[in-house]
Amino acid sequence: MPSMNKDLKSKTYAHLEQTVVDLGGKKYLAKYIFSFIHAKDAAEIDDITPLSKAFRQTLAENGYYISKLKTIEKLVDPDGTIKYLFELPDGSRIESVLLCTDAPNIRKTLCISCQAGCRMGCDFCATAKLKFRRNLTAGEIADQVNIIFADSGKINNVVYMGMGEPLDNYESVTDSVSIINHHTGKYIGQRHITVSTCGITEGIEKLAAEEIVPRLAISLHAPNDKLRARLMPIVNRYPLKKLFASLRSYQMQTRKRITFEYCMIKGVNDSVAHAQELIKLLAPLKSSVNLIEYNPHDGCEFLASNKHVIKRFQDVLMKAGMETVIRYKRGQKIKAACGQLGATWLKK
Ligand code: SF4
Repeated sequence: MPSMNKDLKSKTYAHLEQTVVDLGGKKYLAKYIFSFIHAKDAAEIDDITPLSKAFRQTLAENGYYISKLKTIEKLVDPDGTIKYLFELPDGSRIESVLLCTDAPNIRKTLCISCQAGCRMGCDFCATAKLKFRRNLTAGEIADQVNIIFADSGKINNVVYMGMGEPLDNYESVTDSVSIINHHTGKYIGQRHITVSTCGITEGIEKLAAEEIVPRLAISLHAPNDKLRARLMPIVNRYPLKKLFASLRSYQMQTRKRITFEYCMIKGVNDSVAHAQELIKLLAPLKSSVNLIEYNPHDGCEFLASNKHVIKRFQDVLMKAGMETVIRYKRGQKIKAACGQLGATWLKK
């Protein structure tokens, strides 16, 4: 396999400028390379025609190349959700999901993966049951956006909520944020990029100091450590006290609202008492809550809360003045819903 750090698709604009200069070229050539890869889908170095033949040769002779994900499958759910299955050069597989709102205001949100598998072991998640294979490179993360953009047209929002824990692959994730945000590429605004984490506090603190700060979402799913530990073993390393200290400091630095994701699991975390506990927990922060209708996968012990229970939970939060949205199941028939990525391979 070619060396991953020679992949031009993985390089941020600044890294490309440095690469070009190191090879004896003028800095401005980075603009052609970046825009041809990320705006014009150049597949090979020879496709970057504004570069002289001699400089293209220099890049190739020094081992540089442009990676490309292989699309294995595209599945369309009757509700309009689309799931893409990609293969990486080492045979690992990942999934991305495109969610569209209905006409007339069609908005497209792309949920992308950042790792093949995941190390975090959340009990309700199908991805956790797959063996962790490896981190994705920045190019492999950005390519999900490039390929789906070419296939489905303009994408409004990108969320790092697919397979893997983004802050467990920090460098590639932040490089990919810089790539998809750049104005000579896909130019997705930082307010339209969300990184979701189960709560890796060092990563949250580093993220707050980045030049491009995406929006932050926290996979919370429980209002106290005891219950959260049952669902998410990460709590043993990052208890809520530590997590919320880092969130307060993130918010002081960035002034950004934080979204909390809360999967509604029947009889586990969905009572009125849980809602009241959640209100107290989130009180010190400027936040919003997404209540997610849970999507069980085969062999999983949990069930989805009933719709009226989800509504009751929402009413309690809203009465306390908390912005709360219910995310009903999407893409169920193609196993593209939250917590289900990789579920079809488990079955096989
Ligand atoms: S919910 Fe997210 S962090 Fe937890 S195992 Fe699944 S992919 Fe990993």
